[in-house]
Amino acid sequence: MRRPTPSPRIGLDTRTDLPLIMSTLSRNEEMARRDLGVVWHPCTQMKDHERLPLVPVARGEGVWLYDFDGRRYLDAISSWWVNLFGHANPRINDAVRAQLGKLEHVILAGFTHAPVLELSERLVRLLPTGLARCFYADNGSSAVEVAVKMSFHYWQNRGRRRKTRFITLSNSYHGETLGALAVGDVSLYKDTYRPLLMDVITVPSPDCHGREPGETWEAHSRRMFGPMEEALAAHADEVAAVIVEPLVQCAGSMRMYHPVYLRLLREACDRHGVHLIADEIAVGFGRTGTMFACEQAAVSPDFMCLSKGLTGGYLPLSVVVTTEEVYGAFYDDYTRLTAFLHSHSYTGNPLACAAALATLDIFESDRVIERNVALARHMARAADRFRDHANVAEVRQTGMILAAELVRDRSTGERFDWRERRGLKLYEFALSQGALLRPLGNVVYWMPPYVMDESQIDFLADVTLRGIDIACA
Ligand SMILES: *Cc1c(COP(=O)(O)O)cnc(C)c1O
Repeated sequence: MRRPTPSPRIGLDTRTDLPLIMSTLSRNEEMARRDLGVVWHPCTQMKDHERLPLVPVARGEGVWLYDFDGRRYLDAISSWWVNLFGHANPRINDAVRAQLGKLEHVILAGFTHAPVLELSERLVRLLPTGLARCFYADNGSSAVEVAVKMSFHYWQNRGRRRKTRFITLSNSYHGETLGALAVGDVSLYKDTYRPLLMDVITVPSPDCHGREPGETWEAHSRRMFGPMEEALAAHADEVAAVIVEPLVQCAGSMRMYHPVYLRLLREACDRHGVHLIADEIAVGFGRTGTMFACEQAAVSPDFMCLSKGLTGGYLPLSVVVTTEEVYGAFYDDYTRLTAFLHSHSYTGNPLACAAALATLDIFESDRVIERNVALARHMARAADRFRDHANVAEVRQTGMILAAELVRDRSTGERFDWRERRGLKLYEFALSQGALLRPLGNVVYWMPPYVMDESQIDFLADVTLRGIDIACA
């Protein structure tokens, strides 16, 4: 929809409070033009936008995003995996608004406030047994930095000075800051920066996409534990922790594995005296079908990193929850210099904590985990429309994440060259149809807000099927 040509005038745009510029462009085009003059966008080759239109979003409501020209887009990726209960959710809005009238922010060193106190108590009650101490930061990568530093520092405080290394899985992702990047393994994000990164031990992922024909997920993930056991046996003396994304390697193209791996890993970490860091930044808060992915293996890590869905997708907040045993290794007279002297300015921000508390309220009052079982089942049924497509090698699902692996030829498994950017074609087609799908390379996935309904999932399946046809042609 194109707006009629505005009459030339300078004034304030009532919807954005931004100065209006004389133009014959649509509102979207005008916003995009100005944006591209000043904003450098995340995870983007900006030159792509010479051709690819930017989508200015005027407002959000539930599962929909609305642009400035009156078009809407179904948010199938929860705005980069953060949104759980829709945009402009009235209950979370109210909670943030109420908090805004009391306290917007306060230093968390030496001071505390009701939202951070209540959130910590509720998280400890919800999390696997043993996780009892909450340390806050303001984004996922920072939470990973905290867990990595804390694990290392724990061993230093305990006199185990040689324990300075970390074990990670191939294809894992833990964020973009240098420490988080170092313990991750997605080469697209990591390779350029290798000279800046600490050296880690990388063990093959239990990802079940690579299983033998006829092999079950469980058998494959169990077999893939072999290399981890060997790495632990060989390096336990110099390793502080193993870091994993429980059940789904999200940024690594939504690769999935069986919970048995986590059970074997917990047992082996205990046996070898190595910490287990569970990065549930993407999979926590119901994404895999349980409140936390670790529950499916009945394990409790030494550190759990949470962010993304923690605030329902409202505000940046992250937390590392650890054990009394870890906490105790830092607790001593100041002059012994064993304290964890790490902080971020916005640590434990009250507005973000208020959004997190409202999010937990919704989980409780709406029995979200139970209701998601039916929605996940419907996602599986809807995906039947492209499950046997000639360009789909595999459709995989863990709870509220469903992914399809696109290939040139299903029968031979031949992959598309990444330079062909098939996923980008699908992205553009989906936008033209009113859906926000953002494939990772050649993997298209759904990671919807939990308030999406069945007819919206059906619409998504229709767009995905036609998108696969067009992107793979
Ligand atoms: C997104 C993500 C991170 C990084 O979180 P940011 O808030 O983007 O820094 C870390 N680990 C996992 C598993 C993630 O999905």
